[in-house]
Parts: sequence; C-alpha cells; structure tokens
Amino acid sequence: MLQPNKPLADLTADAKAHLLETFNVEGTVVAAAPGRVNLIGEHIDYCDGFVLPLAIERYVVIAARANESSIARISTEGQDPIEIDLTQKQEISDIKWSNYLRGVIQGFLDRGDRIPGFDAYIVSSVPLGAGLSSSAALECCFATLIEGLVDTVLRTSEKALLAQKAEHDFAGVPCGIMDQFASAFGKKDQLILIDCQTGDPEMVPFSDQSLSIIVSNTCVSHDLSDGGYATRRKATEDGLAIIGKKSWRDVTMEEVLAKKEELGDVIFRRSRHVVSEIQRTQDAVKDFKVNDFSQIGKLMAGSHASLRDDFEVSCDELDLMVKIATDIGFEGGVLGARMTGGGFGGSTVTLCRTSDAEAIAKQLHEQYLEKTGITPLIFATRPAQGAHLL
Ligand code: ADP
Ligand code: MG
Repeated sequence: MLQPNKPLADLTADAKAHLLETFNVEGTVVAAAPGRVNLIGEHIDYCDGFVLPLAIERYVVIAARANESSIARISTEGQDPIEIDLTQKQEISDIKWSNYLRGVIQGFLDRGDRIPGFDAYIVSSVPLGAGLSSSAALECCFATLIEGLVDTVLRTSEKALLAQKAEHDFAGVPCGIMDQFASAFGKKDQLILIDCQTGDPEMVPFSDQSLSIIVSNTCVSHDLSDGGYATRRKATEDGLAIIGKKSWRDVTMEEVLAKKEELGDVIFRRSRHVVSEIQRTQDAVKDFKVNDFSQIGKLMAGSHASLRDDFEVSCDELDLMVKIATDIGFEGGVLGARMTGGGFGGSTVTLCRTSDAEAIAKQLHEQYLEKTGITPLIFATRPAQGAHLL
C-alpha cells in the first residue's frame, strides 16, 4: 500500500493546465521544490545541533507567466485566487496560505528586486501539516519562481534564509534552518547534514540504491494547549543557562548528569535528549559515510526512545507506527524506524530495503488501521533534487 509519488512531469502538466483554466494563460516559468524528511537529529536544530534530512520525491510545483502589470494573481487547489500588489510593503493577511508567499515577496523587495506582475498556479504532492514541510516547499518553490521571473539567482543559502524569514515573520513559526535548507539544497542520492551552529550544509552520500526511506503519516495531529514546540524550546534554553554554557555543542553528558539536581526532572530529561541526540546524529553520519548500516537501527531506536521518554514529543500513534516497523525487523527489510519532525503526530521515517518496501508498507498500513481505525498515508522515497526551475 505504498502511495505512488506523482512524477514531476505530471505535476508540471497539472500546474500548467490549472493555470490555463484559471487565468487563461500558458505557463512559461515553472518551479519545483520538495518537502523533506529528517532521518535523525530531532529537536536539536535550535540547539546548535546536527540534523540529517533529505529532500523527498514530493513537490510543490508552480507554473506562472508574467502579466505586464505589477499585480500577482495566484491560485491553488481548493482556494480562491488572491491578488498581491508587488510594489507595496507586504502585510500579514487573514488568508493563511497567502502569508508564506507574501513573506517571500517581501524578502525579494528587501533585496531591492523589482518583481514584475505574474499569474501563477500552485499544485503539490507534499501532504500538508504532516511534518514533511509543505510550508518550506511552498516558500522555496515560490522563491525559485521569483528568481525565474526577476531573472536573478540567489545563492542557495541566501534563498533558504529568505524562505525561513518568511516563515518567521509572516507565518509566525520560529523554525530552525532545517526545513528550508533541505528543500533548497536537496540532491539526488544525498542526505544533507546541517551543522546548525554554523549553518553549513554538507552532502552525505546515500548512494546504495538497494535502500529506501518509507514515510508513514499517522494522519493525527495533537495540538497541545501548552504550545509544545515553544515550551520545549524554552526548556532547552533554561537547561543551557543552568549548565552555564553558551552552546549545547560544548556540553557533555557528564556535565548534564552533574547538574541533575539543579536542572530538576523535566529540564534534566530535555537536556539529556539534546546531548544524546547530537551524539547519535554524528554517529549516524559516520556510519552513512562508510556505508555501514549495522548500527543505524540502534541509533534510530535510541532517537525515538529519547524523543518519547525524555523530550516527550511522541504520541501513541507515532509509537505504534514505529513499533510495527521495528517488529518487522531486519529479516523483513527494516533497518531502523523513528518518529520524525516536531512530533505530537505527523510522520515516522523507516529506513528499509527497497525490494521489501511494498511488503513493509502493507504491514504498516494494515496493522496501523486495525489498531487505530485511522488510514495512514504511506510512501517510499529516495533523496530528491532540491528547489529548481524546470
Ligand atoms: P507542514 O509544513 O509540516 O506541512 P505547516 O503547518 O508548517 O505544516 O504548513 C502547512 C500550511 O502551508 C498549510 O496549511 C498551507 O497554509 C500552506 N501550504 C503548504 N502547501 C501549500 C499549497 N500547495 N498551497 C497552498 N498552501 C500551502
Ligand atoms: Mg511547516
């Protein structure tokens, strides 16, 4: 029950057909940008840690054509078209999905670019709100489209930072750099190691074609009234202050243990997650670099347990999905599994043998449905190309 990934060519044809139908124009500029999934290194991007995401074969695609005005007319599936005056300073709108675009436009205006008017239609195969960064894909795709329309090329990191700023300032999400970096820097057959202290991305080969990544969307989202993300972030800031260091990268597990009493139970466990997850991610990278997958299952399991017990961002559905995968085990083609993304719902990531992916997906689908009554969304991917013009 692997859901197929729609080829980019089909998404492009869809976007162009919708553009023609909605605005009666033929698309001349088409941009694509992928969502992402994080293999390991969770909730440590805002702690100067390392993350190891990959761009997935799920994309936002936008087809557009200049319209000889100073107005952008933009539409997307299931929404009324919007109009944005490209000569004005952008304001946050009540139409939520338009804010990601307004933020990107403002980023180009801040650079001093003059954006010509255009008509555009957005399609996407990145599930929304599933922890796969459809928002970063939208921002990076739109930024790439504007590069095409303005006829300018940003450095990849500049584009990713512009997209991140849009998310901060216009969507009100104080995210780290992982999502936009993954969508912008993604490469076929490569994982992206991001050192969140320096902001430098490094490509890590994932060239073994016999391996794939299964993404399983639990299709639940438990919105916490205490704002789970913000409180976790605050706890890590408090922990670092109590330990008395400037950066989590300089903190050892011995130092966390030595401050156990002072930290108190909750902040102690949050701190233990940060320090152990930074180590696990570095260990995983070492293994990937030499194509040694014997420890990867342990590292992914350790990451999941730490997120569940110490950082407390998992939930029953994520734990169940991970358990089903883990129970299939190495014999059945599963190398490792864990929750991925912010948590409280969303998706899990399973590293598996490509030849077993279909059978694994069937198990995940059937058992998850049977135990929860919820139909999950499951697909397999290999690392994909980042944001680009078609
Ligand atoms: P995630 O990034 O994990 O998918 P977010 O809540 O950060 O979840 O972003 C989802 C939001 O991004 C959607 O509610 C919508 O406003 C916007 N969005 C993403 N993709 C599209 C799209 N193709 N068309 C319109 N809006 C989109
Ligand atoms: Mg998002």
